[in-house]
Amino acid sequence: MGDDVEALPFLHVDMDAFYVEVERRRNPSLVGRAIVVGGTSERGVVASASYEARLKGVRSAMSSVQAKRLCPEAIFVSSDFSTYVEASREIHEVFFSITPFVETISLDEAFLDVRHALRLFGSSESIAWRIKNDVWETVGLDCSVGVASSKLLAKLASVAAKPQITESGVLAGMGVKVVKEADEISFLHAHPVRALWGVGAVTFAKLESLGVSSIGDLAQVPVSSLVSSLGVAHGTHLAMLAQGDDSRSVEIKRPVKSISHERTFEVDVQQYEVLKSEIISLSDAVAARLRSKGLVGKTISLKLRLADFSLVSRSVSIGEGTDLSGQISAKVLGLMAKVDCSDGVRLIGIRMTGIANRGPEQLGLDYGSFDRTDSNQLELSLTEQKKLAVAVDKIRARFGQSAINPGASGKNFRQPGQQRWA
Ligand SMILES: [Mg+2]
Repeated sequence: MGDDVEALPFLHVDMDAFYVEVERRRNPSLVGRAIVVGGTSERGVVASASYEARLKGVRSAMSSVQAKRLCPEAIFVSSDFSTYVEASREIHEVFFSITPFVETISLDEAFLDVRHALRLFGSSESIAWRIKNDVWETVGLDCSVGVASSKLLAKLASVAAKPQITESGVLAGMGVKVVKEADEISFLHAHPVRALWGVGAVTFAKLESLGVSSIGDLAQVPVSSLVSSLGVAHGTHLAMLAQGDDSRSVEIKRPVKSISHERTFEVDVQQYEVLKSEIISLSDAVAARLRSKGLVGKTISLKLRLADFSLVSRSVSIGEGTDLSGQISAKVLGLMAKVDCSDGVRLIGIRMTGIANRGPEQLGLDYGSFDRTDSNQLELSLTEQKKLAVAVDKIRARFGQSAINPGASGKNFRQPGQQRWA
């Protein structure tokens, strides 16, 4: 059994209070104090809280009002995602110094498959310590590392390795937690069932009614009961996870560098209205792709192939990344206004670059309902655009892509090319 420990394939690395520690790295006066990143505005949401603030009950995604009530002494720092993205890149350099098999989960979290690195760097556990030390020494940040035979167990192990909040204060974490194969089932079964991926509030309520609170309880429930309560796919999946059966591998995703859509017209188009309509459609498609991947883009480019086949491209950068079609189309229309399209356009394309993960503050907005009381006001606020975008995504997810088209794109009024013969 002991030999198996050497070859445990999976590491889960998770930074400790990542945004907070990045802020402390550049402003050491914040060390040791209760810090809340994000939530600086009235309607803000906590992106990350230091352990001192967590001790008082502050959690990510909590409203800043609630966080202030729980922890009046907390210092609120506005979030700065470009700095966090840069710190994330530095951390990933450490990961890639060990193995190319890195699956990025978020800015501060990744799975590594270290099987091919064992010969070079020693046991999985020694690789975990090496990463922890290298991240500290080269990036100046703390992380916790879980080591196990599956991704599920490695993830639970990294949580177990973290600093712990207890009644008597914050206790330093182990830093690295190895789940030996012999201990897997007892380690897994001691966890609350909510620690499993795929157990949200609704599933948890159903499991609770079956008398399940720990993963150990879940393992005792016959698969047939889980299937009748949760459906075939979800029920069998959870039954497998409860037995520690998680065969997922580390998936190497290439980071998305750009998202673009373009359209070639059958006949060269001169009419502004047609081009504008196409820009709105393309912007909508680009924005929907960004949202589906949880990304935002900062640089918006317009590509035009003109009647004489010359290629024109123009771009503009915005301060904050966006995933909203209204913002994108407005910028593209501005770019197009500076191009002479009078001889006609053969192809039009929109491309987003400067891609980054959507920050938790952007996620934290209440996307719940789209409530417009002032129907005279034509311009939608940013918040309203976001709500609308989420509503559109939901409708399309349910009824298909063509169920809803951007209002101003005038998909029905005229096909490009028809105008010529009108
Ligand atoms: Mg983290």
